[in-house]
This record gives sequence, structure tokens and C-alpha cells, in this order.
Amino acid sequence: MAVPQNRVTRSRRGMRRSHDSLVGGNPNECPSCGELKRPHHVCPSCGTYNDREVIAKADEIDLDEDAA
Ligand SMILES: [Zn+2]
Repeated sequence: MAVPQNRVTRSRRGMRRSHDSLVGGNPNECPSCGELKRPHHVCPSCGTYNDREVIAKADEIDLDEDAA
């Protein structure tokens, strides 16, 4: 079984872990509503991608459409 040859000091451990933190995303501004969104993703607030509506918003769906 592999055994560590040397003790890793608190300092060395800390230096190694200095690169472990997670960084936040790099949000873009949505061209249609101006909200910040993830690049290459559908805008969660207006549902558009590439100036095209991809996801219909809930208040725009007519629920009585097929009832008539
Ligand atoms: Zn948007």
C-alpha cells in the first residue's frame, strides 16, 4: 500500500487548497430583457435564445384553448 513519504504541513496543505475554491459564473446580459443570464443558455426570465422565444411564459399560455 502506498504510504506518504513526508508529512504535509498545514502550510503546504493550504497552498495546495488555495486553488480549490469555486468561482462564480460569467453572466451575460440578455439582449431582449437585459437580465443577467448564463451564456449559451435560454434566458430564465424571458425565455428567449438568439432573439427567438424558446420557452412560452406561463402567463402567455391560454389554458382554455382546447376546452372550447
Ligand atoms: Zn431575457
